[in-house]
Amino acid sequence: MTTATDDTWRYLPPERRIRPIVQVEGLTRDYPMGGGGVVHALGGVSMSVARGQLVVVQGRSGSGKTTLLNLIGGLDRPTRGTVSFDGEDVTAMSERELIRLRRHRIGFIFQAFGLIPILSAAENVEVPLRLTHASVDEREERVRILLELVGLGERARHRPHELSGGEQQRVAIARSLANKPSLLIADEPTGQLDSQTGRTIMTLIRALVRSEGVTAIVATHDPVLIDLADRAIELSDGRIVSDSTAATLAS
Ligand code: ADP
Ligand code: MG
Repeated sequence: MTTATDDTWRYLPPERRIRPIVQVEGLTRDYPMGGGGVVHALGGVSMSVARGQLVVVQGRSGSGKTTLLNLIGGLDRPTRGTVSFDGEDVTAMSERELIRLRRHRIGFIFQAFGLIPILSAAENVEVPLRLTHASVDEREERVRILLELVGLGERARHRPHELSGGEQQRVAIARSLANKPSLLIADEPTGQLDSQTGRTIMTLIRALVRSEGVTAIVATHDPVLIDLADRAIELSDGRIVSDSTAATLAS
C-alpha cells in the first residue's frame, strides 16, 4: 500500500515524484483516565494523503477525528505510531521544530473561528504574517489578496462582531492561508454554522484546494458535506471503518 509509493517515487521522472504529503502509520493515542483506566481515542490508524486533495474525515462525536487531526498537525504526540509530513517524521520533531511546522507549513481552521475580537478582519489575517516577520509591504499585499480570495475584500476593516458566522469563518480561512501552507487542517469548520452557510464554507475550501494547490484535511460529522470531498475517511471508535474516493462517493 503506502510503502509501494514511497519506494518507487525516487525512480520516477521529477515531475512524477509526487509523494504523499501526509503519511500516518499505526497511529495510536491513549488518554490516561483518573483511576488508572485509559481511553483509546485512536487505535492504530494508517493512511496516506495525496497532494492537492480535499479529504474529509467523518464520524460521530467521540470517534477520534480531533485526535487524528491534532496528531497530524503536530499539536499532540501519539502513544504509538508515526506521522510524516512531506517525508519528515513529525513524531520525532522537537517542540521548536513543531512550532516552525505549524507556523509555516500548516494552516489551521477551527469550529469556533478563533479570531481576535479587538482586531479587524485584515489585522486578524495579518497575525501569522507578523509571526514570520514578513515586511509591512508584503503583509499589506498578502492580506489584500487573501481577503479578496475569500470574498471579503470590502470587509477588511470590520471587527469579528460586525461579521456573520460565515464571514468570520472566511476571515479564519484567509488567516490559515497567510503563510502559504501546503496543508490545511480544519476541525469541524462548519460546526457552528447553519447548513447552507456550512456548505458555502466547504465549497470555498474546495475552491481553494483547486486554485491554491493546497491539500486539506477536514473533520466533519455532517454527512451532507461529503459529496464535496475527493475522498472520505470514516472513523469509528478510533479506527478507519471506510475510505472512499470521489468516484465511489458520487455513485
Ligand atoms: P471527535 O473529534 O471525533 O469527537 P475526539 O478525538 O475528540 O473525537 O475524541 C476521541 C475520544 O477520546 C473520545 O472518547 C474522547 O472522550 C476522548 N478524549 C479526547 N480528548 C481527551 C483528553 N484530553 N483526555 C481524555 N480523553 C479524551
Ligand atoms: Mg472533534
